[in-house]
Amino acid sequence: MKRARNFSAGPAILPESVLEKVQSEMLSYRDSGMSVMEMSHRSSLFEEIISDAEQLLRELMNIPEGYKVLFLQGGASLQFSMIPMNLGKGGKVGYINSGSWAKKAISEAKILKVPNMEVLASSEEDNFTYIPEIPETDEAYDYIHITTNNTIEGTAFQTIPRFVNAPIVADMSSNILSNRYDVNDFGLIYAGAQKNIGPAGLTIVIVKEDLIQTENKLPSMLDYRTHIKNDSLYNTPPSFSIYVAKLVFEWLKDLGGVEAMTKMNEEKAGLLYRTIEESDLFSSPVAINSRSLTNIPFVTGKKDLDAKFVKEATALGFLNLKGHRSVGGMRASIYNAFPYEGVKELTEFMKAFEAKEG
Ligand code: PMP
Repeated sequence: MKRARNFSAGPAILPESVLEKVQSEMLSYRDSGMSVMEMSHRSSLFEEIISDAEQLLRELMNIPEGYKVLFLQGGASLQFSMIPMNLGKGGKVGYINSGSWAKKAISEAKILKVPNMEVLASSEEDNFTYIPEIPETDEAYDYIHITTNNTIEGTAFQTIPRFVNAPIVADMSSNILSNRYDVNDFGLIYAGAQKNIGPAGLTIVIVKEDLIQTENKLPSMLDYRTHIKNDSLYNTPPSFSIYVAKLVFEWLKDLGGVEAMTKMNEEKAGLLYRTIEESDLFSSPVAINSRSLTNIPFVTGKKDLDAKFVKEATALGFLNLKGHRSVGGMRASIYNAFPYEGVKELTEFMKAFEAKEG
């Protein structure tokens, strides 16, 4: 059985050793006679899984006390609404419009009629090909929202902006655990699991507890306080996804943690960017100082040739390289579980394609 070189932006490739472990525990997890999928979320076996998952994530990201870790559902997209609902105090809120997902976060806040919403910077006019310059301000904001990595466009913040009177809320969906970050720089971090963490269905929220508004009246499921009070077990959580996430956290810890993973990702991305730079056929649509480590778009400049490249690559087992419909061209998503070898093979194919077509 041959595994594909799967460049999907998400749901994305998972570590092979994790999939094997899941397979080996599928019929009977720790002699329970059942899989984790079939197990009560109130059982002691599952309580141990969720508590280990939290502990491992705290270790991997060095999450300080005072921050809560929540295992939720609804995807990163539900956080676009939960954040204004839970962190808004009626003061100003700021958004950085750095990509299609940031734009969705902004439009959800607009639906909620969040008062005093400001878009502080945007690169939309230039098709989000760079991270816009963030203005300095010492004015008070309830929060300022950024997207650390723009999955569709392939850009990433190289430094996290700091404001004296505004906590940063970060959508880290496509580079959580693949880039070293200091959690202290953020008031809230959120991410859908299906890229760097595990199966879809799980959303992770890391929130500084003192930012949560106690005045806001919210439906229980949309209120962070409900999930904090119940250790993410208010209702049935996405138990299987949490279990796989725990295994992915163990895998990452064994590899040396986020620091070691960042270096590996720099090597993988570096190889692909070098290949694009040295090519006369392929180019990157993204500003050099905004490059993402995890999502790397590239184009030939000709639609037909892009389509031919994707078709031939697919036939060779390099899957899901077609760029997002809003950007076109190609995009290689190379999250933590994507092996260096696979990137090397892709660059070799790119060179062979150029020799033939360039
Ligand atoms: N934000 C970013 C940066 C994303 O990449 C995605 C998914 N691709 C989302 C939000 C939406 O995530 P979900 O599908 O989990 O709602």
